Amino acid sequence: MRVVIVGGSHAGIACALRAREEYPDADIVLYEKQDAIGFVAQSIPLYLQGSPSFDKIRSYTSATALEAKGITVRTGMVVRRVDTDAKQIIFVPAAGDDLDIDSYDKLVIATGSYPSIPLAAGDYRDKLLVVKTYSDAVRIKELMSTARTVIVIGGGAIGIEMTRGLIDAGIHPVLLQAPAALLDRYLDDDAAAAIRAGLEQEGVEIHTSSLVTQITADTAEGGRNITVVTQAGETYTADGIIYCTGFRPNTVLVGGQVELGEMGAIVVDDYMRTSEPDVFAVGDCSTTTLKHVIVPTYVPHASDAFRQGEIAAVNLMGPRRKLNSSQGTYSLNFGDHTLAMTGLSLKRALSEGFDAAVAYTRNNYIDSDRFYEARLVYEKGSHLILGISVRGTVYEISGVADLYSLAIEQDLTVDDMEYSDFFFKHGFHNPFGLPNILADVIRNEERGQAGEPGAGRHSFGAQTVDSQDVAAARDAATSDGDKGTAL
Ligand SMILES: Cc1cc2nc3c(=O)[nH]c(=O)nc-3n(C[C@H](O)[C@H](O)[C@H](O)COP(=O)(O)OP(=O)(O)OC[C@H]3O[C@@H](n4cnc5c(N)ncnc54)[C@H](O)[C@@H]3O)c2cc1C
Repeated sequence: MRVVIVGGSHAGIACALRAREEYPDADIVLYEKQDAIGFVAQSIPLYLQGSPSFDKIRSYTSATALEAKGITVRTGMVVRRVDTDAKQIIFVPAAGDDLDIDSYDKLVIATGSYPSIPLAAGDYRDKLLVVKTYSDAVRIKELMSTARTVIVIGGGAIGIEMTRGLIDAGIHPVLLQAPAALLDRYLDDDAAAAIRAGLEQEGVEIHTSSLVTQITADTAEGGRNITVVTQAGETYTADGIIYCTGFRPNTVLVGGQVELGEMGAIVVDDYMRTSEPDVFAVGDCSTTTLKHVIVPTYVPHASDAFRQGEIAAVNLMGPRRKLNSSQGTYSLNFGDHTLAMTGLSLKRALSEGFDAAVAYTRNNYIDSDRFYEARLVYEKGSHLILGISVRGTVYEISGVADLYSLAIEQDLTVDDMEYSDFFFKHGFHNPFGLPNILADVIRNEERGQAGEPGAGRHSFGAQTVDSQDVAAARDAATSDGDKGTAL
């Protein structure tokens, strides 16, 4: 059997390694257009900080390491075309134009994603700075070496990470976000407001509901002046501009040959099979099955890319193992604070048809400013856990999103988890464990005691979110219909 994998990042590498394990006699060939495999985009902030760790953790493997396992790695090779009828790929060296052909028995498309670019008017394309590859990071660092003000377009996870890097470098960041709240694809507005307040305190200038419609770049030699105009007519000027407006699936090789879904991602089933026999798709170029979301969704997450790559390998010779659902689990660091989330936000749960509510709690440390706060989304009545976002000092919340991701995958309820055994964290005002506190919050809400001093068995001031916030989320769910979870 000859297995051809196109794309040498997380999904493609995971697939190649597992295929080697599963099929010791197969020819496994990995094509990658760049000159190295496995660059980890999450290391870009370290590069921008000039951290000595960057070189050590920019990649977790190499072509040589894969070759040592008997996988043929063809770096610097661009796959130009796929012919699913002839079961062939046509490729060319990145630095040449000699076309060549390879044949496959099984093809795995792992071509990932590319940064989306806003459709703003203006002649500014050569000034585009995006965040995806090592060479993007080099360009950003070059800008940072002289810039005093930088505009970041897009208030998702990566936009926020970029603004924090700018602050650390002494550069004034202006963050422009088209939706009304930051991280709108992940969080409900009250949770996003807390993140916004923290960033503003650090010095990030934030403008939401600011859709960029025009960009003017100073094209003079060495010129760096960028002016951005929003739909509302506001104007911002800076030394440079970084686009963080999400990612799009890179599916040009198989367009017209396999079924495409949300945002043009390749539709796959639970075994990572596409609509075309013997063609699999994994990682950022494919759709993801999100728990409790009916339509396959575009979720460009590394965590899913690894799992999908391996599952495709297991199923190359026939369906043997289904992929577990994704809950879109994600975590974001802000210095010694972390935000972690999994599952549905309230607005997303409502738009998926759940009669959902939020239980909120905040727990402070007795003798320091350590804390965590959690917003649990659950179905009323059944108490089915649908999602959670937690924010707090790193130690307190590490692992919460993973724990609840598993709970959601396994259809656990708030009551199932209430008396489960978790390690005891000493030092908080409320000494009970988080699942136990949240169950108590919900019980009190149902008894109509929410918000009253001393309400609840624990009497530690846990609260539910005000019903006005639920109404606001309900409005948002019915008005924006945006179900994406792209970064
Ligand atoms: C700054 C940043 C931070 C992130 N942080 C997180 C995080 O904290 N958590 C998380 O889960 N995700 C995170 N992500 C997303 C994560 O990086 C992606 O989900 C992941 O890289 C997807 O892996 P992939 O293998 O599917 O595709 P990609 O990483 O997009 O790689 C695709 C590969 O295919 C190659 N390729 C494409 N076309 C061809 C062709 N025609 N011929 C040959 N080779 C080709 C490309 O060169 C590339 O190497 C982050 C992304 C960025 C940019």
